[in-house]
Amino acid sequence: MVTVAAVVLWLGAAAGPVSAARRPVPAPWDLFGRGPVKLRGTVHRLAIPLPRPRPAEAPKAEPDTAEPGPPAAEKPASAAPTPSACRLALTETIAIAPSIPDIHGAGGCGGEDLVRLEAIVLPDKRQVSVKPAAILRCKMATAIADWIRTDIAPLTQGLGSTIDVLDNFDSFECRGRNRIVGAQLSEHGRANALDVRAFKLANGHSISLTDRTVPRDLRETVLHSVCARFSTVLGPGSDWYHEDHIHLDLMERRNDYRICQWNVYDPLPQTAPLLPAERPEEAPPREVAEKSDAAKSDAAKPDAVEPEPQSKPATKKRRQNRRF
Ligand SMILES: [Zn+2]
Repeated sequence: MVTVAAVVLWLGAAAGPVSAARRPVPAPWDLFGRGPVKLRGTVHRLAIPLPRPRPAEAPKAEPDTAEPGPPAAEKPASAAPTPSACRLALTETIAIAPSIPDIHGAGGCGGEDLVRLEAIVLPDKRQVSVKPAAILRCKMATAIADWIRTDIAPLTQGLGSTIDVLDNFDSFECRGRNRIVGAQLSEHGRANALDVRAFKLANGHSISLTDRTVPRDLRETVLHSVCARFSTVLGPGSDWYHEDHIHLDLMERRNDYRICQWNVYDPLPQTAPLLPAERPEEAPPREVAEKSDAAKSDAAKPDAVEPEPQSKPATKKRRQNRRF
């Protein structure tokens, strides 16, 4: 019984230790006349542990306030990682390409060792602006800079001017291939691709790479240049997404497999009297189609004949380009 009463009183004391402490000689204990001393002892035991946690918390608070110090000191070190070999090599004598923070987006988008390629510096110190500036991995930016410096600058100088602006149609963009939702991540999403639309020259002229009116030889020279430097080249004729620009990237594939799909179309023909002589290659399927069209309707003849001058040389060149 004594233990039961002690537990009951003990619980009462636990519920209100402060009030119990304020009444060191409570009237009820005097009425019972039993072991008030023991009970007070238990009350004191309960009251004692209470202050203990506080000193324990106090030391903890001190390290908490002190901890922000050391991490803050470590952050500057982590924010300045060792520059990559590529970064060290891509100096301002080659390109104006400041580093930017790594990007780690959803779905694998982003990359490391990124730069903002603002301009390419030619050997004669003149700068070729990249408009707008392109977000690229350092290696891709270096490849673009080498391409402009080594191949395109001399090419445009041969035209009596010099390249002044590289028309950037698209660089880093977190998206699927050909902007198809759910498609495999584009190299653009990895900051490993650049879409080029044109070169603008210092004399005010512009060379649109997919413009049929630009001399064919010039476009073919650019084709050979990019296909030798980049693992993926997509232009007109590759699919319906690259009719107005050239896609370049450095995607790595097994056995260094490369893709070079850019059909350099002929200018739109002004006359077509000699075109039938080129027929033999494509003749069988086309003649059959033509005959069937002619049999169906006489009105179809003019429509069927007119497009041939364009499509015929184009398919011929498509075959040639596939060899690269
Ligand atoms: Zn592209």
